[in-house]
Formats: sequence, C-alpha cells, structure tokens
Amino acid sequence: MKIKAYHSFKLVKSIHYLAWLSIPFVLVFPSTFSLPAFLIGLVLLTSLGSSAALHRYFCHQSFKTGKIRHWILALLGTLSTQGSISHWVPYHRSHHKNSDTEDDPISPTFVGFWKAFHAIQDLGSYKDIKTRDIVIMMRDPAVKFFYDWYWPNIILYVVILGLINPILILNMYFLPIFMVRFVFGLQNTFGHGVPVFDGYKNHATKDNSYNSVFVNMITFCLGETLHNNHHHNPGKYSYKEHWWELDLTGFLIEKVFIK
Ligand SMILES: [Zn+2]
Ligand SMILES: [Zn+2]
Repeated sequence: MKIKAYHSFKLVKSIHYLAWLSIPFVLVFPSTFSLPAFLIGLVLLTSLGSSAALHRYFCHQSFKTGKIRHWILALLGTLSTQGSISHWVPYHRSHHKNSDTEDDPISPTFVGFWKAFHAIQDLGSYKDIKTRDIVIMMRDPAVKFFYDWYWPNIILYVVILGLINPILILNMYFLPIFMVRFVFGLQNTFGHGVPVFDGYKNHATKDNSYNSVFVNMITFCLGETLHNNHHHNPGKYSYKEHWWELDLTGFLIEKVFIK
C-alpha cells in the first residue's frame, strides 16, 4: 500500500510547532484565553482524542464500545492531529515491544530528554513496523475513512470553530494539541525515569517506566503519566490503582464509552 503524502509528518509537526506558539501568544494576549472553551477542547482532543481513542482504544484495545462511539473516538483521535490511527497504533505498539532498549527511538535513556520529549510517531525510525500491519488496520471502515479524509476532517473542525468564534481555534484546537504534546512528552521522559523526580513503581516491569503523581497533577490528571501502571498492564483502560492516582481519561471511558 502506498502511504499518501498528506500524512506527512512534517505537516503534523508544523501543527505541533504552532500549538507550542499558542502558549506565548496567550501570555502576550491573555484576553484571547477562554477557560471553558479550553477545558472542552482538553476533554475532546487531549483526553478523549489522544489518550482514550488513539492510545487506550485503538492501540491497546483496552475496552469495547458501541458502533457510533467507535466512530466518535476515531473522529476525536483524528482531530488530535497526532498522525492517522493506522500510523499511531503500530508505532506505539513498537514502543511497548522495545521499551527502553536501543530499538526504542523515544527512549530518553538512549536518545536524550529533548528528543524523547518531542518525539512523534515517525514510522521510518522503527524497524519492526510493517505495511501489512497498517493494511490490516485499514479493514476497519472508521480507520480507513479517517485515513482517507484525514486533513479535510481537521480543516472542517477548525473552520467550524472559526465561524462560531475565531478564538475557539486557539482554545479548542491549538491549546489542546499543545497539551497532547506536553502530556505525551512528559510521559516519554518522566514516565520512563528521566529525570527521576517523584517517580515510583507499583510494579517491577522490565522497562524503566515510572508513575508520577506530581506530573499527573500538572497534566490535569489525565492519567497518562501513571506510566508504570500502564506498562505493567497495557490492556487496562484505567491506570488508577490507588486513591491518590487520578485518571480522568479512565473515568470518562468508564462513564461514557464502555459498552
Ligand atoms: Zn512508555
Ligand atoms: Zn501504551
């Protein structure tokens, strides 16, 4: 299968750079920030789109949901602009398979803090990802649809936001995407023990994964940085194991998406 050009990682990364610029923009023009709109965008794109849909549902298949909610998760995963589902999934499975070894191109131990922090799914850097795996994923009509119509869906979402109110583009698209990169950046680094901060392990995994309650707090308790719990049992939709380990994404999955 030919991988189409509009899944260019340069384009995806360019969106991410714009998302990073949204932080200084908000600091210079604080009146452009809307907390309610940002929180809605955070739930839709960061928590549900990236964490619940791409990570826990499509990649780890940690819960089952209904047909309409399956399409909603595929849509939100697409809008989070982290690459199409059929790309994100094999990349992340490879991370679990090769965690903290030389074959893990996002291991902070081997590639350093900043390269791991900014890493996105660059399939070219993984040896064991096969086009066949992507073809198999494409048998899912939702995965195929959002692969074929990847950028049009994202552009339509941004246009709708702009027509309602242009500041929504900032608050419900770029800032939530910044949060995706921030959460997964911290997960790739602190979540893999670099640097050791308040990290702790509930499980003696063979990789270098850690949980961090503090980092989880500064990422709105979305749960992704309870990373040792996740690496120990990737098939669980919630990463919460103790009362102090908060997992908003797992909570939303349980209340809204589990069939
Ligand atoms: Zn990991
Ligand atoms: Zn994972």
